[in-house]
Amino acid sequence: MSRVSGASLRAAALLAACAIGPLSACAPSSVAPTVTPPVASSVQAPAQPPLEQPANVGDAKIAALDYYNSGRYLKDVGVVADAARAWVQEEAPRASKPAIVLDIDETSLSNWPMTKADDFGYFPKGSCDALPAGPCGAEAWELSGKAKALPPMLALYQAARAANVAVFFVTGRREVERKSTTANLLNAGYRDFAALYLKPNAMKVASAADYKTPVRESIEAQGYTIIANIGDQPSDLAGGHAEKTFLLPNPFYRVR
Ligand SMILES: [Mg+2]
Repeated sequence: MSRVSGASLRAAALLAACAIGPLSACAPSSVAPTVTPPVASSVQAPAQPPLEQPANVGDAKIAALDYYNSGRYLKDVGVVADAARAWVQEEAPRASKPAIVLDIDETSLSNWPMTKADDFGYFPKGSCDALPAGPCGAEAWELSGKAKALPPMLALYQAARAANVAVFFVTGRREVERKSTTANLLNAGYRDFAALYLKPNAMKVASAADYKTPVRESIEAQGYTIIANIGDQPSDLAGGHAEKTFLLPNPFYRVR
């Protein structure tokens, strides 16, 4: 049995009225329009948040973990370090008392075991004795002296020393960490650097640049030409007093 819709029956009735009735019978107004009543949908479009928002921190952590685990982080460190090495080898013979300045954390040494254990959080205090599990206190981690060199940066260091370039470490770590930081640098392979500058224990600055820039000035005052300044934070490099600057990747944290 074929089915006939209600709409088809109404159309047939309209045609019949036009054929036998007055013209007015054909007017659309004479036929009640077929109106489909609104059907309440159970699926409503979600209310949208404002378009301009900060990045989702959870998504950023997933991306940062993948950046490291995929090997892209170390590869990108290598791209910058290799460019710095080429420049240092080219410029060193031309400069008077050539020197380079290296930051320490996420530049010369990697704190990845702590960063991963803390899920990109930062805990200055507390122990760090359960790695690879966290939490891992930053001060305890740094005092342990277990950080490893970033290999491309160690290669840059070795190339600089081979070219008779003096190497100065300038770090935001505090003076109280001098002994452990020196031991860590030596153990990681940085064995004959010119000096290690740490931040005075009581010093407070709005930006790391407020401490690091005057240190580079003091190195120049000793007669050195800083041909390259390498760090992982813009605040490592701001303020001048270097022929060239090189910014390493670091999506893991920010030091203002
Ligand atoms: Mg750093």
